[in-house]
Amino acid sequence: MIPFQDLKTSNSALMPELIEAAGRVIRSGWYINGPEIRELEDILSSEIGSKYCVAVSTGLDALRLIILGYKELGILKDGDEVIVPANTFIATFLAVTSCGLTAVAADVDETTFCLVPDKLPVTARTKAIISVHLYGNPCWSHIFHDLHEKGILIIEDNAQAIGASSSIKGFHNSRKTGNLGDAGAISFYPAKNIGALGDAGAVTTNDEALAKVVRQLANYGSSEKYHNTLCGFNCRMDELQAALLKVKLPHVGEIIEERHKKAILYDSLISNPEIIRPAIADDGAIQAWHQYVVRHPRRDELRKYLQENSIATEIHYPVACHKQECYIGNPILKTYGSLEIAERLAEEVLSLPIADVSDKEIEQIAKIINSFS
Ligand SMILES: *Cc1c(COP(=O)(O)O)cnc(C)c1O
Repeated sequence: MIPFQDLKTSNSALMPELIEAAGRVIRSGWYINGPEIRELEDILSSEIGSKYCVAVSTGLDALRLIILGYKELGILKDGDEVIVPANTFIATFLAVTSCGLTAVAADVDETTFCLVPDKLPVTARTKAIISVHLYGNPCWSHIFHDLHEKGILIIEDNAQAIGASSSIKGFHNSRKTGNLGDAGAISFYPAKNIGALGDAGAVTTNDEALAKVVRQLANYGSSEKYHNTLCGFNCRMDELQAALLKVKLPHVGEIIEERHKKAILYDSLISNPEIIRPAIADDGAIQAWHQYVVRHPRRDELRKYLQENSIATEIHYPVACHKQECYIGNPILKTYGSLEIAERLAEEVLSLPIADVSDKEIEQIAKIINSFS
């Protein structure tokens, strides 16, 4: 069986350093809000290029803290509309709706799988847009800069795209995702490109006021122990995860390059005419290839065929977010117009193994795919 992803493999490769890092934290006797977190935040802000970084508990909390931070700053308020791509992991929607704002589901592009910047359902009530760099594909455009100028916040869901970058002619040279909009959220969920050995996340931003309020909110609303200026939460990353992530982060460039080579190999080998392969960016962007996602009109049959031939696949995602039971008939989620492409993608997308497969296995997978009719 070729597994979809084997977390043991990638973590085993770094075993001595991970054990050394864990031992250092255990011996230190300092487990929360210590030197590992500060160092990780410095490494992360230089990786992303952002002025500020706050290490937090999860990717979902990173998104929530950005929204709650803007609420504290008086920039967002209950009921404000936030545009979110209908084809994303549910956490993007939950971040909006759990903070009392209204999520507006928008359709996506069938080749990039992301929001279509010139077809956004922007209204007078739109106060923010969450650009999700889905599957590691940077979703950016000069239109986001224009909308930002008009006072709309552009929040990046960078959960799947750490290390990716975008360049826009006439606007900016290559800039990392997480440093494109007003603020970005990273997830270090174990299966992400850089995974912790548990839950972890981070907020990146160039906005000093936001960074400060996010840090406070994540720490009971206080910056001085036992003095609470805000009604906050406990959304901190712990020292152990920070130490482990410090071992993994220096490899982000290699990991993406490796995945890019595998994507190119799949692209050159898959010739089944019914398969639609994912677009490979030709505009100077760097894609993080969190997933390699193909489409087929009879996706479920293809998946079964691959399974019978010992190849594991996944579906990201089988149900468009606006069709999730929690949102059916729930006024916290709105839609303007059709979400036809997102709904079709839910029926057609199939993620092939990319994380821990060898070139030989990719050849094998492509051969099986090409023999499917
Ligand atoms: C993983 C993910 C999240 C949430 O991250 P967690 O660390 O699991 O909370 C949010 N958005 C997207 C697009 C994700 O893939």
